[in-house]
Amino acid sequence: MDKLGLVRDIDLALHLPLRYEDETRLTPIAALREGDTAQVEGVVSSCVVESRTRRQLVVRLVEGRAELVLRFVHFFPSHQKTLAVGARVRARGEVRAGFFGREMVHPVFKAVPEGGAPLAEALTPVYPASAQLPQAYLRKAVESGLRRAPLDEVLPAGVVPRDLPALRDALQLLHHPPVGTSAWQLEERSHPAWARIKFDELLAQQLSQLTAQRERARLRAPVLAAVHGQGAPGSLHARLLAALPFGLTGAQQRVCAEIAADLARPQPMHRLLQGDVGSGKTVVAALSAAVAIDAGWQCALMAPTEILAEQHFRKLLQWLEPLGIGVAWLTGSRKGKARAAMLERVASGEAALVVGTHAVIQQEVQFARLGLAVIDEQHRFGVAQRLALRRKLAEQALEPHLLMMSATPIPRTLAMSYFADLDVSTIDELPPGRTPIVTRVFADGRRDEIIERVRDEVAKGRQVYWVVPLIEESEALDLQNATETHARLAAAFDGVAVGLLHGRMASSDKAAVMAEFSSGRMSVLVATTVIEVGVDVPNASVMVIEHAERFGLAQLHQLRGRVGRGAVASVCVLLYTSPLSPTGRERLKAMAETTDGFEIARRDLEIRGPGEFMGARQSGDALLRFADLGQDGTLLERARAVAPALLERHPAAAAAHIQRWLGGRMEFLKA
Ligand code: ADP
Ligand code: MG
Repeated sequence: MDKLGLVRDIDLALHLPLRYEDETRLTPIAALREGDTAQVEGVVSSCVVESRTRRQLVVRLVEGRAELVLRFVHFFPSHQKTLAVGARVRARGEVRAGFFGREMVHPVFKAVPEGGAPLAEALTPVYPASAQLPQAYLRKAVESGLRRAPLDEVLPAGVVPRDLPALRDALQLLHHPPVGTSAWQLEERSHPAWARIKFDELLAQQLSQLTAQRERARLRAPVLAAVHGQGAPGSLHARLLAALPFGLTGAQQRVCAEIAADLARPQPMHRLLQGDVGSGKTVVAALSAAVAIDAGWQCALMAPTEILAEQHFRKLLQWLEPLGIGVAWLTGSRKGKARAAMLERVASGEAALVVGTHAVIQQEVQFARLGLAVIDEQHRFGVAQRLALRRKLAEQALEPHLLMMSATPIPRTLAMSYFADLDVSTIDELPPGRTPIVTRVFADGRRDEIIERVRDEVAKGRQVYWVVPLIEESEALDLQNATETHARLAAAFDGVAVGLLHGRMASSDKAAVMAEFSSGRMSVLVATTVIEVGVDVPNASVMVIEHAERFGLAQLHQLRGRVGRGAVASVCVLLYTSPLSPTGRERLKAMAETTDGFEIARRDLEIRGPGEFMGARQSGDALLRFADLGQDGTLLERARAVAPALLERHPAAAAAHIQRWLGGRMEFLKA
């Protein structure tokens, strides 16, 4: 029970049926049609064990002149006892055409006593169960949970929309829908009883997010505004801006101002910076760091992979070191003396900026005065890492500001529900001079043709990513492996440097390969998805993705974002292996049709549903159990509209409501 999260009575009461069985009616045997799932009643006319290909129990059930065969491949002596000739029996199952007429295989059955048995008055619930927890047991447990759970309304009048039923009635109906309840409305979850449950759930989520927001507002953060004002002449911020080889786009200027305004407040910032791949988030992070450093505080920048962390490190070093700023690099693979020296520089405050993987949030890393934490590709960090970061930030008396960056835009409904406690800045403009990426989809039978085309591109001085989905040959999956592809391409591109990059390489080897490719000495890079996040080589203009059908839409978009970063026209070739599944086809089509990350996120949500979309919140626990953001936008708006006033005027009711719906999952939701 605990595994299913069924701890309290209310949890049981909220364990809602997956579907229902209709035991409220009897279908005359004569009226049965193939494919029906039906309940029938008749008298057993014969009951024999046959052993043709397999031993089986064959029972004939008659009602008037109509007959139905009940067939059991697994059976016990008790079967024969209940199904003895002359017994009146009720059976329920799916009707199919058998060799000797219509039959049910392994129907549910029970003896009907003398004088008949009453029919069920409500549909019979079928609950999400597990092997250890049979339906019958769950039904009883849920029933008693439903009886015992305190289901009185905790919400004051006027909060719940008037067209929705009371919670107790809604639950009663969903567990035991009376005869005549629209099966369709139940199945579609559009019944008013469902709407009530979803509304309550969405409201609980809104309330918990608002509570988190208010708790945060009570925290104190360092005011990161330079004494002479941000961007004052001579400040690091101004010098960095002047040293950049480009001017900021309007969108970058806007989000920088939004962030700077947050940093100047005495409450910790909690802001998501979203911008499509290549929109230039890194420089925004660097300028934000400069604001913190100008104010005399340290900044930490975290990336989900070593490759990305190292790339950030190099870029920031290149930008900031000439300006006299100490930049430290911390990753998990850094050990021994070098690590100790780095830790010392961080602890003394000599390193104003610390770049690394999640190694930065480890316990032994002590900052002198951490003022700002930036997390790149925020959705890539696991829940545990995000919680660890929260704890780390809470260590200081003055809590650091937090800036999260993501190239996977959050659709509006998701932003409203999961991230209500998050301010969002959006870079909605790409730096000038980019040419759009053309995406082509090909069956992998045309690989040789593609290789020819790639050879021409390389001859023109272009660089190429060739992405493969797996590292080693797997017997189960017939995929190209990176080493094999590398060998083949190296042979095909005679005289051209072809490199290989995959997740199992030592990080120093990875770094060496990346350096070769970045410098342009290497023309073709065969890589697994380790290059997915954030790698930036502007001269790379061709990307070939093998087995593109195996990748998710968001992942393909991220990968594709590695090209199209310079002024030359870029191409992305998606190779697939037939046959394509319907969703695979849809994904590739979406990729070919648009390069807009927001549109792709919208389609991704459509194809996969929000549960999977939120990849990083894998555990599903944090997700909505009942409401569906794709469908329930209206309910979400209604919940959002009433939540603030409810929290303000009836804090006790709000707390009780959160407790009822979210119980112990509060901390998780904050991650
Ligand atoms: P992402 O948002 O995907 O992290 P990056 O920060 O890696 O994007 O930026 C992509 C590329 O665009 C980098 O080479 C960066 O230096 C460049 N860039 C960023 N802002 C501008 C700008 N305003 N004008 C020209 N190039 C820019
Ligand atoms: Mg980036």
